[in-house]
Amino acid sequence: MYKIKIHNFEKKYLLDEMIRVFLSSDSYRILSDEEDFESDEVIHFNRSGSDDKNEIKREIYRTLSTLTSYEPEWGILTGIRPVKLWGETFEELGNRIQTRELMKDKFLLSEDKLELIEDVYNYQKSMIGGIDPNNSSVYIGIPFCPTRCSYCSFASNQVPDSEITLYFLALLKEIKEVGRMMKEYLIKPRCIYIGGGTPTTLSHTQLEELFCAIKEHIPMSRVREITLEAGRPDTITYEKLQAAIRGGVNRISINPQTMNDDTLKLIGRNHDTNMVRKAFEIAKSFSFDAVNCDIIAGLPGEDIEDFKHTIYEVLGLSPNNITIHSLAVKRGSKLIDIDRDYYHKVGKLVGEMLEFGRDVLGENGYRPYYLYRQKHMAGANENTGYCKDDAFCIYNMAIMDEHEDIVALGAGGISKAFFPEENRLERIPNVTNYQEYISRVDEMIERKKIGFANRRFNNAD
Ligand code: SF4
Repeated sequence: MYKIKIHNFEKKYLLDEMIRVFLSSDSYRILSDEEDFESDEVIHFNRSGSDDKNEIKREIYRTLSTLTSYEPEWGILTGIRPVKLWGETFEELGNRIQTRELMKDKFLLSEDKLELIEDVYNYQKSMIGGIDPNNSSVYIGIPFCPTRCSYCSFASNQVPDSEITLYFLALLKEIKEVGRMMKEYLIKPRCIYIGGGTPTTLSHTQLEELFCAIKEHIPMSRVREITLEAGRPDTITYEKLQAAIRGGVNRISINPQTMNDDTLKLIGRNHDTNMVRKAFEIAKSFSFDAVNCDIIAGLPGEDIEDFKHTIYEVLGLSPNNITIHSLAVKRGSKLIDIDRDYYHKVGKLVGEMLEFGRDVLGENGYRPYYLYRQKHMAGANENTGYCKDDAFCIYNMAIMDEHEDIVALGAGGISKAFFPEENRLERIPNVTNYQEYISRVDEMIERKKIGFANRRFNNAD
């Protein structure tokens, strides 16, 4: 058992996640300020008098890398938006070499990750341009799924249809009232994202009603992209996708996560790989501009061969977007109760999987177009969205860039009002619990009217 003593750094828990990338939680203990041991038994990390909060993190990284012979590629970077960080640093320094050197020295990023974030940044800039305060997006959340996956930490409820109907009615009200507000405040979105949960848990008639409400109430003149997450293949029917295409949806997401039946059972999904193939077949009956397929690296019981199998199977389905996630084991998931060290154990393996995925997707004409990181990701790796033939998702890029208004509707939606002069976002959250959302929908509407009120004056200028 390693004993670790941290000096002159109050928020020790901030360093704990970094230590756990290198060491399993039962192999070390952070000593309290009162505890003292003979110094040769203890690893000391000391923040000197400098203002640089990263200094102690670099010390931890270097010491534990030497101890474990493991060099995580993201260095000490814990932020979830590395591309945004690159962009802001580059805009400040005005020089890519200096940006690269600063990010490398400050955060100890590997050459490979520096290349990746610079490439994604340049691609995004060339495809959707820089900051434009007139841009905005709408998010609509449907927090229901047929079953709960073992790694899930999202708002996902398994409830009778009668509950979904009550939620749906409250959501329609919010769309109507907030749509009115958007018209008044001159907020004109360029994309709409319907996520969850699994939005295709709704019936096809509910989906039809949803799209009618969107068209009727949300300002549509600038909308270029409507995404519908049809995540769970077991919820997809011909009628639902027909309702989507008629409703203006041009991007859908069908998410098997793995193409191994044993793993699907193990993680609590309600479908097998045949249902995934069937869902893709149905999707091919319609001309969506983009079909995305999410997969996860590091699922329980999977080795590199299982992951390779998934990649090749997914390539066979020919989606033009593929998103590779690193498994994140968060609080609220069943997996963390089974093994809280899981994300540490599979760290290196997930790194290998991601590298394999990137190489093979590259050989098949896919390029990375957005990426983000989360807390508690296996090996502190990343999630990367790949696209083919420039069939990227504007919404995915925009929410990671955080330079525009996001109007979020439904339980768990977090709206963000953007103030360009201060480069600042103000969060306007809805409640997460769907029952509370139903009973407090008027309050959620009012919060947005107040939260976005200042944007009205900006847009009017
Ligand atoms: S499909 Fe997604 S939101 Fe639904 S239970 Fe699984 S991980 Fe959670």
